Amino acid sequence: EAEQGYENKPRILLMGMRRSGKSSIQKVVFQKMSPNETLFLESTTKIVKSEIASSSLISYSIWDLPGQVGYESNPAFDNEGLFAQTGALIFVIDAQDNYREAIAKLHTTVLRAYEINPEICFEVFIHKVDGLSDDAKTVRQQDIVEHVLANIADAELEDQIQISFYLTSIYDHSIFEAFSKVIQKLIPQLPTLEQLLDILISNCCIEKAFLFDVVPKIYIADDSSPVDMQTYELCSDMIDVVIDVGCIYGMGENDDTGLGYDAESASVMHLNNGMVLYMKEVTRYLALVALLREDKYEKHGLIDYNVEAFKNAVAKVFEPRQ
Ligand code: GDP
Repeated sequence: EAEQGYENKPRILLMGMRRSGKSSIQKVVFQKMSPNETLFLESTTKIVKSEIASSSLISYSIWDLPGQVGYESNPAFDNEGLFAQTGALIFVIDAQDNYREAIAKLHTTVLRAYEINPEICFEVFIHKVDGLSDDAKTVRQQDIVEHVLANIADAELEDQIQISFYLTSIYDHSIFEAFSKVIQKLIPQLPTLEQLLDILISNCCIEKAFLFDVVPKIYIADDSSPVDMQTYELCSDMIDVVIDVGCIYGMGENDDTGLGYDAESASVMHLNNGMVLYMKEVTRYLALVALLREDKYEKHGLIDYNVEAFKNAVAKVFEPRQ
């Protein structure tokens, strides 16, 4: 059963102070909410807010860190199982706010989580940077990174703890880009997937190819040529279009995911700059999106053949080990 390969889904935990933007990130990335609508999201008081995106390659949960509650006195925080299963802990810091308290919470969280699970990757999203000038962005980023690293060094853990920083905003693609980087670290099959994409693009004269996790529209792998933002945005917009059309007109009775996305999903768009955008379903969660020159697409029998071979290879990659 193809489903089995996904059983041990890597888990991502999204944490941060209340109002730092966690629910907005979730809605925008996983539920296609438009960023402006997040202004009206209601704040909840629960600690663990939700488990989301079960139909994705990765599973996620969101955790609020209310300012007034200390970890020690909070039984929910002693949920060792949660940290033990977590591959990456994303900590969201609101860069437009006073972030001293957030940095302190981040530090306690890092120590606690590391104690339970030393393998965890810590990912700090310096968030809401859309409201800041370029200079202010740099200054805040330096300040936050310096403080966080100094705290870790004080605890003498600087050589053990894996921590990365990203500037993010829900108003542009930076949040998707950051998520992609985080997820790529958690996919042990990544080098194989990259290799398969490289083979595919060289056999088919493709300019750029991405493998997208369709639900959160995050790319989990790309070929080794450099990514330019415009190509990435184009490819990710294409997934929206295909899924929107699929949801409206294409829902067959076999659509058990309700996604409007199935084994038949495929699309080809000829752009007015002589390029072709090509999308094809690869697995239940994954889609290949490629950009190539129109004259290379003329021999598309060859491309279809190679994509089929690619699809079979990816299916093998995710097959459960015997
Ligand atoms: P949570 O309590 O951490 O889940 O925070 P929310 O998701 O409820 O967000 C709090 C507020 O921050 C909302 O009004 C959002 O519209 C706003 N917000 C979230 N992300 C961004 C962002 O990237 N930029 C800006 N300017 N505002 C954001």
